[in-house]
Amino acid sequence: MDKTRIARNISLLKNELPRNVQLVAVSKFKSEANILQAYEAGQRDFGENYVQELVAKAESLPEDIRWHFIGHLQSNKVKYIAPFVNLIHSVDSLNLLKEINKQAAKHNRVIDCLLQVKIAEEETKTGMDEEELSQILIGKSELKSLRIIGLMGMGTFSDEESKTREEFKTLKRIFDAVKPSQNEEFREVSMGMSGDWRLAVEEGSTMVRIGSSIFGTRN
Ligand SMILES: *Cc1c(COP(=O)(O)O)cnc(C)c1O
Repeated sequence: MDKTRIARNISLLKNELPRNVQLVAVSKFKSEANILQAYEAGQRDFGENYVQELVAKAESLPEDIRWHFIGHLQSNKVKYIAPFVNLIHSVDSLNLLKEINKQAAKHNRVIDCLLQVKIAEEETKTGMDEEELSQILIGKSELKSLRIIGLMGMGTFSDEESKTREEFKTLKRIFDAVKPSQNEEFREVSMGMSGDWRLAVEEGSTMVRIGSSIFGTRN
């Protein structure tokens, strides 16, 4: 995809997104050159799914990029991203949270995290249910080296708009239910991808994760 195209896609998205909704450009499998094109268009928040790929890119790309980890994260790999990651969207267990806390402390950092809630029926989609979520929110106070700043969810990949919308509504409902018991910093709802971000924004998303609509389809 050519340079002007990436810049144009970003500006189209930014024009359409409400100001309070943050755009995370999902750059998995995309080249550093492509990321730089988005960077030059003013984009600073990038999302990656794989630890090795993220580490390699973070080493060679500008330091003021804010890296978001959005893929399934294994506990034994947290140490590689802990020195620099800005936000982990995909925390799906207390064990993982504890490991993030431990690694963040080692690096004298406080790492921001979102708890991933399973809202889609598809088995392949990970995330916790409401019960696990409340358990974690109760137990998290000892974890001083992280902040849970909200929730993340993925809608079912389908043409059925009403189904995806219901799933986004569910995530927002859970967020609203939990919010009163949380600190001020608990304010993000990360939902919406290339195919469904408009729905997600209508249902209260504060952060959309968009890849193919910016960079083109992935191989
Ligand atoms: C790949 C991915 C995205 C971006 O998907 P697109 O459809 O290309 O916008 C968003 N969120 C997660 C968790 C992803 O894995």
